Amino acid sequence: MQNEALNIEPIPAFDDNYIWLLTRDGYKGCAVVDPGDDEPVIKTLKKRGLRLDAILITHKHGDHVGGIAELKERWPKVDVYGPANEPIKRVKHKLSGGDIVELDGLGISFDVLDVPGHTEGHIAYTGEGALFCGDTLFACGCGRVFSGTFEQLSDSLRALAELPADTRCYCAHEYTQDNIGFAKWVEPDNPDLLVREERVAGLRAAGESTVPSILGDEMLTNPFMRTDEPSVIKAAEKWAGEALGSPREVFRALRTWKDKEYD
Ligand SMILES: [Zn+2]
Repeated sequence: MQNEALNIEPIPAFDDNYIWLLTRDGYKGCAVVDPGDDEPVIKTLKKRGLRLDAILITHKHGDHVGGIAELKERWPKVDVYGPANEPIKRVKHKLSGGDIVELDGLGISFDVLDVPGHTEGHIAYTGEGALFCGDTLFACGCGRVFSGTFEQLSDSLRALAELPADTRCYCAHEYTQDNIGFAKWVEPDNPDLLVREERVAGLRAAGESTVPSILGDEMLTNPFMRTDEPSVIKAAEKWAGEALGSPREVFRALRTWKDKEYD
């Protein structure tokens, strides 16, 4: 089974959410990540003759968990995985950093990472060169701080930066083009960012997804992953009007700047 390709495809939901569908050639079962809505999932699986084996949840927000109940009703044997530290109904396997998720039928094993900040108990899943990061890391941006803290989100992004540079990052929203606009406020002269802007504009014009992104590209262009780069520190200090002594402080200034003046 593992010699066959693992396929990861987006099921678009709501305005700009991606529910990620995991399939393996020659296998009838599948898994989905963050099904905020059951309808597009049921429609896609029905059309493809697939059975839902597993649901992986990154965090508690409604646009990530809203489809669980109906999907469970339709596929009663589905295994639901999610964060141990968030109140989510119907999660059977409660996970935290260091845990491993084995989806035997699909032949996948994921490592679970604690990535709090957007919410207090947000987790991510990584394996086979892929990262499912929910609303923690976005392509060229990051999630807002809701029920976690700025320090947590800063530390979580720095932990994700330690993954291999060729990791494909599957975030849960198509926000890339908008995020690049803010990234250009921070680093208007970053040549890698300008190249990415053109590439993303081309994809969007063709109606294509800009996700997954490659972690190495995030390190070169995403200001929230570059909080120890002199150009990013300088821009954050200019906006804050004071010296910022640590990546956490730079992160807080960037996130606050974007929240107040860009979004
Ligand atoms: Zn969220």
